[in-house]
Amino acid sequence: MRILIAASEAAPLAKTGGLGDVVGALPSALQEVGCEVSLVIPAYRNALEKAEAPAVVTKGIPVKLGPRNLSADVLVTEVNPGIPIYLVRRDEFFDRSEIYGTAEGEYFDSRERFIFFSRSIPLLCRALRYDPDVILANDWQTGLLMALLHEGTLPGTAGVFTIHNLGYQGLVPPEHISFIGLPNEYYRMEGLEFYGQMSLLKAGIVFAHAVTTVSPTYAEEIQTHEFGCGFDGLLRSMKDRLFGILNGIDEKEWDPAKDVHLHAPYSRQDLSGKKQCKNALLKELGLPMRLMNGPLLGMVSRLVSQKGCELLLEAAEKLFALDVGLVLLGSGEVKYEKAFSGLQDSHQDRFRFIKGFDEPLAHKIYGGSDIMLVPSLYEPCGLTQMYALRYGSIPVVRATGGLNDTVQDPKERRFPGTGFKFRDFDAGSLLAAIERANTVYKDKDYWQAMMREGMGQDFSWRKAAKQYLEVFERAIKRMGGVHK
Ligand code: ADP
Repeated sequence: MRILIAASEAAPLAKTGGLGDVVGALPSALQEVGCEVSLVIPAYRNALEKAEAPAVVTKGIPVKLGPRNLSADVLVTEVNPGIPIYLVRRDEFFDRSEIYGTAEGEYFDSRERFIFFSRSIPLLCRALRYDPDVILANDWQTGLLMALLHEGTLPGTAGVFTIHNLGYQGLVPPEHISFIGLPNEYYRMEGLEFYGQMSLLKAGIVFAHAVTTVSPTYAEEIQTHEFGCGFDGLLRSMKDRLFGILNGIDEKEWDPAKDVHLHAPYSRQDLSGKKQCKNALLKELGLPMRLMNGPLLGMVSRLVSQKGCELLLEAAEKLFALDVGLVLLGSGEVKYEKAFSGLQDSHQDRFRFIKGFDEPLAHKIYGGSDIMLVPSLYEPCGLTQMYALRYGSIPVVRATGGLNDTVQDPKERRFPGTGFKFRDFDAGSLLAAIERANTVYKDKDYWQAMMREGMGQDFSWRKAAKQYLEVFERAIKRMGGVHK
């Protein structure tokens, strides 16, 4: 089966979060279950710098964007053998320092950028005489593609749409509707219309032959008023073509026994290297060595309200009274960056806030910490807790979405358990879960049993790839086609 994956990120060329990791790893897993996979992402400045020998495959694809007749060039590169990555180039949109925007906010033309990208994809397929069985689009940035397929731009190609985060809806205000470029009937409630604007995310949900999201719990949650962001009714009405498939992790990239970023390797069988990783992390960050005696907490996250930043800020004083260390790596909204910098100033002896996006440091934090915090308001899947588990860092998570699916609390009578969960989204509940973890930490044998249990979990992509394959088959059937 021929699959084209379209997305706004794909690690290692372009990544701001979990979407990048997923799109980076899923192709190889699909290849292993027999698919022929290609990827298409925008040719961001950073992606072009990282890409190995990108070669131009076609130039001057004509893409209409509202009143403008624009053109795109297409380059191709490879990260994994046999998986071409197409890069859609138009420097006006993608030759910028960031993928989506800066700490001040999204780029002003973010809708035009991704409408342009989405519109270029069927044209790219035609120009390259490439005829996929399925296009898998991801999140609002490529949602429009599903409507374009529905419109008949690539006959015989089915559309599957994955929701990685319902919180980002790709809203297009009325004055910019002309950029979308669909016939008028698409701008009704049965189409893209969403409370007076157009939603590119909704285009994906409504017009895909099948919709997936990234964990079974999130698939249920988004059908409720609390988590549905206004789409719950729509999602309930199409639940026969909505599937929750838990993300995997790239087990080669995330393996403490082989991780080049770690100070010392370690494994489930031999945990001794982990202590050295903690020691090296404290040293690197200039934190006092006495923090070796208690648990070191870590958090690697986008700094947005979804991730529970307020909770951590509110809990901080009481948390530090527990005599623990905390390392936070993250970037995002200015207000949080400022608040965490302020907190660091008053707690130099136990807290480091590293502002920015730093992949090697992220690995060192998973390796060197004892506990990872993921206090999200909602979490479609969440990868950080899975990396934490793999690295023997016990996750403390809010019981929501994929966090709920991947972490087992000893309280749930799953001996010995792999982490600690709390339900209510408030600082007190987060603190109570950390206090529980802190108590168990003192029982070294039990703690190590939890670490080993977590490190032994199977988060490989194999299972997910098979489930995606089934969804592709269903989508093709729904379209009324057969795969080539
Ligand atoms: P989301 O996609 O909502 O950001 P996930 O938990 O699914 O959340 O994925 C987050 C990914 O981004 C993980 O790989 C995490 O390690 C990484 N990450 C987040 N912030 C940073 C950062 N500041 N530096 C390095 N990696 C980061």
